[in-house]
Amino acid sequence: AEIVITIDGPAGVGKTTVAKILAKKLGFKYFDTGAMYRALALAAQEKGITAEQTALLQKLAGELPLTFNQKENTFKVFLNDRDISELIRHPQIGMLASTISQIKEVREVFWEKQRKLAKEAQRAIFEGRDMGSIVFPDAPVKFFLTASSEIRAKRRLKQLKGLGKDVSYKEIYSSILQRDKQDSKRVIAPMQPAQDAIIIDTSNLGIENVINLMYKHISN
Ligand code: C5P
Repeated sequence: AEIVITIDGPAGVGKTTVAKILAKKLGFKYFDTGAMYRALALAAQEKGITAEQTALLQKLAGELPLTFNQKENTFKVFLNDRDISELIRHPQIGMLASTISQIKEVREVFWEKQRKLAKEAQRAIFEGRDMGSIVFPDAPVKFFLTASSEIRAKRRLKQLKGLGKDVSYKEIYSSILQRDKQDSKRVIAPMQPAQDAIIIDTSNLGIENVINLMYKHISN
């Protein structure tokens, strides 16, 4: 059977960064499931579909021509032939993703896709909000990363500035807070650590330290 390692946690906690490094170290595939919700948000926005149009969103999620292209150090997201990797990083798309991720029918479509991707990959790290708690309850190692909201906003700001995005700390901070609130309060699959998750507070840890700590847990 397949082996999946799950990494969950709030926005800007560093899941993507550590998941990529760990995947490389272990020779595992890596999947950013937030990118699925973000891609759907972008596609909906472009088609003029709103968050209230749940039936249309469910349909769009099922038909989404979404592919991931994984190379050494990059993880690219495509809609058909269009590279949307950077476009979906905008805070507004993140907010819309969070809103439409509250729709049960949308989540069910993506859950199925995620399990299928795991089967195909056989060895994979899945990063998101509900990977350990819902999608892969039998995963042998589950992580839940946390960090203070100020630190997470700072990390996200640095990342977005690096992409050349013109965003302010204030904008990112409030978007992170709002998204966390929405993601933890939703009825279906609220963000929470799985009962058997290893919780790591990364507020005062460098990437190296977090990786080493996680690697230790995996090798045990
Ligand atoms: O991880 P990222 O911040 O890119 O995710 C964007 C949004 O997608 C989150 O705020 C959350 O609402 C939603 N999401 C989710 N379940 C996942 C991954 C992301 O609901 N497994």
